[in-house]
Amino acid sequence: MKLTFLGATRTVTGSCSLLEVGRTKILIDCGMFQGRAQEEAMNEQPLPVPPSEVDYVLLTHAHIDHSGRVPWLYVNGFEGEVLATKAATDLCGLLLPDSGHIQEFEIEWKNRKRKRAGRKLLEPLYTHLQAQECMKLFRTVAYDDKIQLTDNITVRYRNSGHMLGSAFIEVWVREDQKETKLVFTGDIGNRDIPILKDPEYIQETDYLIMESTYGDRIHQDRKNKAEKFLNIVLETLDRGGNVIIPSFAVGRTQEIIYEINKTLTFPPEKVKKLMDAPVYLDSPLAISATEVYRNNLECYDEEARCYVENGDNPLDFPNLHFTRTADESKTLNKIAGGCIVISASGMCEAGRIKHHLKHNLWREKSTILFVGYQAEGTLGQRILDGAKKVKIFGEEISVNAQIESIDGYSGHADYVGLLDWIGKFEHKPKRIFLVHGNEKAMTSLSEKIKDEYSIETIIPSREESFVIEAQREISREIHADRRFRYLPVINLLEDVKEGISDMAELLMDEMIEGVDDKRLTDISKKLKLLQKEMVGLLEAGK
Ligand SMILES: [Zn+2]
Repeated sequence: MKLTFLGATRTVTGSCSLLEVGRTKILIDCGMFQGRAQEEAMNEQPLPVPPSEVDYVLLTHAHIDHSGRVPWLYVNGFEGEVLATKAATDLCGLLLPDSGHIQEFEIEWKNRKRKRAGRKLLEPLYTHLQAQECMKLFRTVAYDDKIQLTDNITVRYRNSGHMLGSAFIEVWVREDQKETKLVFTGDIGNRDIPILKDPEYIQETDYLIMESTYGDRIHQDRKNKAEKFLNIVLETLDRGGNVIIPSFAVGRTQEIIYEINKTLTFPPEKVKKLMDAPVYLDSPLAISATEVYRNNLECYDEEARCYVENGDNPLDFPNLHFTRTADESKTLNKIAGGCIVISASGMCEAGRIKHHLKHNLWREKSTILFVGYQAEGTLGQRILDGAKKVKIFGEEISVNAQIESIDGYSGHADYVGLLDWIGKFEHKPKRIFLVHGNEKAMTSLSEKIKDEYSIETIIPSREESFVIEAQREISREIHADRRFRYLPVINLLEDVKEGISDMAELLMDEMIEGVDDKRLTDISKKLKLLQKEMVGLLEAGK
């Protein structure tokens, strides 16, 4: 068999691996590349095999970085089956059409510019409608059932505790009378996450394809997150501010609603202020996702089930309000204090959260409470890093609000969790392939795995293939995509561009506030040198 890594190699998005056994071609995840424009351009790159030749897509979970290119595969000729758990299928039914909407919207915006410039118009990766259509290819699988895909391939989905319906996928391949097992972890959950069952352990595998998002980090407040959450909320309400929680529409939002509901069972004198405070869920996608959570009770852990059995809906409480329309959302901007707003997107790059930040960042009494991962370069990261001013919708906003963060809600295990998970194997894997992490996290985790368990690790590059034969050592076939080498260069150019534009803004401020002659002369000299170099660079780039 041959295993080729097509995404999430030395990065955290675009999860996709191709497993070829004889003539059968299987993709494990088919995720979207997200982040900077040049990364997103990777979504258009063709697979090494025509989509019409792919027999199955095995989906670990519904997050777009794992599922987002399934409609694109369908548009390009894929007619096979997509295997996913019921909850993952329900969530894909929401997330994929939503992603189609975003593609259409973004292309429309780009095309308006291109039209004016007389350039060729672009097509969206897929439309809302096409994403809806591709859902007919989904086949629901139950956790723990062994499914015979072909005469020599069997698969089984096991709970990975990362999000509703998420799974590790065990794959058994029979070749030359001998069986080889591979396990694809997808994303491995954090333990003690509200609502969800903890990730299961797997006893044995020959090869492990493992995520490494937090391969170099430990979650600080995993155990006392509920207490920390309550304290931050109560302090803000006490001083008359709003609590603004940027949150991913699926997963984190429901966990936070659950956490608030649970807190309301504490002694009333402690949570009186919270009982009186309205909580607004301001994201249509999050509202629909909450419905999906309410319809998939079999994924709940014991505590959450207990609420349900006692007749309580753990994802509802008297003061919870859903704001679906844009007008309802706008009225929230007028509230000066005393409410809690949960809104998407989680990294503050798009969506309604930007309006709430615009109206609350400058208010000293308010709190912006981060409960999720903030990627580099995002507005969320800049606020968390202590920016004094940020630009939202072209307007400069002062950051006067309290900035708080709880990282114990992360959907990913930290390195202690990942190592603990590997430690539970009764028969250790021969090799561990590390995917879904940045270079630093992967290198760090790789060293820890070697130190602690003496297991060889491999950090594959994009489009790198490995031939795995039952009787022999695996062999590496390097034909990494040469187009991929463009990315670091484009990234560098973007960094230079960003740096120069930041400097221009800074100087503009100085020009108004006060002049520093010596500094200006120094910068001007350096710029002249750079300009000379630029002439050569631009010549080379022609
Ligand atoms: Zn995920």
